[in-house]
Amino acid sequence: KSGFITIIGRPNVGKSTFLNYVIGQKIAIMSDKAQTTRNKIQGVLTADDAQMIFIDTPGIHKPKHRLGQFMMKVATNTLNEVDLVLFMVNAEEKFGKGEEFIVEKLQGVNTPVFLVINKIDLVHPDELFSIISSYKDVYDFAEIIPISAIQGNNVENLLETIKRYL
Ligand code: GDP
Ligand code: MG
Repeated sequence: KSGFITIIGRPNVGKSTFLNYVIGQKIAIMSDKAQTTRNKIQGVLTADDAQMIFIDTPGIHKPKHRLGQFMMKVATNTLNEVDLVLFMVNAEEKFGKGEEFIVEKLQGVNTPVFLVINKIDLVHPDELFSIISSYKDVYDFAEIIPISAIQGNNVENLLETIKRYL
């Protein structure tokens, strides 16, 4: 099994931390040459039974007013061309404007989208239910998976679930 995955989400939600955690020293492709014309390969995770190729989605993290139409199209194209989208949010924050901006970009996207709720080490387990609830109606997520990228909590489960979609 092999597939392309892109991680989207506001700055500071933990996208890089997650990538570093899962790819670690195994980063296979990091040079400037490892670029397509549009999408940068951020890392490749090679397991015995699956290969996950993480690529960047340019244009999705920027505020709306700075986005040209071209970049909007690049973002939409990327989201449609990958096999899986991970939408990462911060468990400490409920659905807000920054997330709304990204959910708008997901309209018309056919690729399955996981909601990855990161930094669960910072919230009380009892709060998790209400955080998840705040996201339930905003989009039809294929999966909702809470993790801690810094501690590795539930990351194995996320990777196993990803494999099922490749
Ligand atoms: P990015 O902008 O989405 O790539 O976010 P980063 O990976 O740079 O993380 C932003 C900050 O959040 C850093 O200080 C990380 O150490 C911290 N961080 C990331 N993941 C976690 C987590 O699971 N728990 C906690 N407590 N902090 C985290
Ligand atoms: Mg980052």
